[in-house]
Amino acid sequence: MKIFIETYGCQMNVSDSGKIVYLFARQGYQLTDVSRDADLIVINTCSVREKPELKIFSALGRYIPLKRQRPELVIAVGGCVAQQWGERLLKRCPGLDIVFGTHQLDRLPELVDKVRISRRAVSLTGFKESPGGLEVMAAPAQGAISAMVTIMQGCNNFCSYCIVPYVRGREYSRPSAAIIEEVTILARAGIKEVMFLGQNVNSYGLQEKDEISFVELLTLVHEIPGIERIRFTTSHPKDMSETLIAAFAELPKLSPYLHLPLQAGSDDVLSRMGRGYTAAAYLEKVEKLRRAVPGIALTTDIIVGFPGETEADFAKTLEMLERVRYDQIYSFKYSIRPGTRAAKFEDLVSDEEKRERLARCQGRQDEISQEILEAQVGAVSEVLVTGPSKRGAGEFSGRTGENRIVNFPAPAAIKVGEICRVRIVAALKHSLKGEVLA
Ligand code: SF4
Repeated sequence: MKIFIETYGCQMNVSDSGKIVYLFARQGYQLTDVSRDADLIVINTCSVREKPELKIFSALGRYIPLKRQRPELVIAVGGCVAQQWGERLLKRCPGLDIVFGTHQLDRLPELVDKVRISRRAVSLTGFKESPGGLEVMAAPAQGAISAMVTIMQGCNNFCSYCIVPYVRGREYSRPSAAIIEEVTILARAGIKEVMFLGQNVNSYGLQEKDEISFVELLTLVHEIPGIERIRFTTSHPKDMSETLIAAFAELPKLSPYLHLPLQAGSDDVLSRMGRGYTAAAYLEKVEKLRRAVPGIALTTDIIVGFPGETEADFAKTLEMLERVRYDQIYSFKYSIRPGTRAAKFEDLVSDEEKRERLARCQGRQDEISQEILEAQVGAVSEVLVTGPSKRGAGEFSGRTGENRIVNFPAPAAIKVGEICRVRIVAALKHSLKGEVLA
């Protein structure tokens, strides 16, 4: 039996898809990247970006006709769009067999069996007290040195534009003992770097009785032998505590890299977004972080053209790019998510203005990103070797603690997973070139 899986969206979805593949591998399935060879097709969806349903309908338009040649083929849709649409998706797409929600990942093998026996479509999208699937631990890929570990799921913040609290549910933190155990197993399997995932990792443990805090969790994981680097995403600026900022200075394995979503530079826009901080409060946290770890690299998310955003508001977003100097930004035009508060906001920004602002924002950021890379030339960095470079030419590739990609000629002695000292000799577009120091 073969499983084909198509994944949209965030790292948590990528991690969930790994768990799905693992669950079916235990039943003897093999992963295939050819959809027409599959006995089971799973589409793991995301509703954060623009027009997510269109992507899903178009994918189903490609896969459902495969049933003509393979009537036994089972097709399942999971993730955030599945959560939002539920049974309506089955009605909208005849030929689709399973809709499973964000808390029901662990039930998918059982649902597939049920459909194979009954030949009737099923939808399962209820929320559970603890989301099913969080405790499924996918084995790391052969030779992998990095692994994602989901530590919490859901969000209680209800930013006015965001669908996540409705489709992932309220915040739930995994027991710290289970996380420590998982990281210990990963370390024994050769994993050197863990990336903690959650919609708002900074509030880890806050909703659970007697659970440790996020910083306490980081401190315990820091002690696990074999783990060399720890990263996490996503952090909410309002929950970025003094103790977490101090942890960056105190825990050497905590990478000097942070994704800190800004969204907009105008306080009026931030207030309508329901973000819970002002631009000044955000900058204050950035300054504290940079005092604690002077070279920390920051990345962010930006939304342009939120309802009511004026040219003066947008100028404040550009000003924040200048003041913070992010390594990279992930920027998008605002688009309506039905069911959110902002979907009812008036004073919409025209698509033309949004496009124009996005281009200006990305254009300036490209220059800043390049300036940051060029400023690295001559520096010596600790680089975690990740594998042969995509550029070929006998080069290896790795990442600095700041998460910058470095390609370098590979001395014979070097091994994947090692941390080596590399002198940066040139800045290319999006990456650095280096040479290994003896
Ligand atoms: S913090 Fe806001 S943007 Fe982030 S997941 Fe929660 S509601 Fe969405």
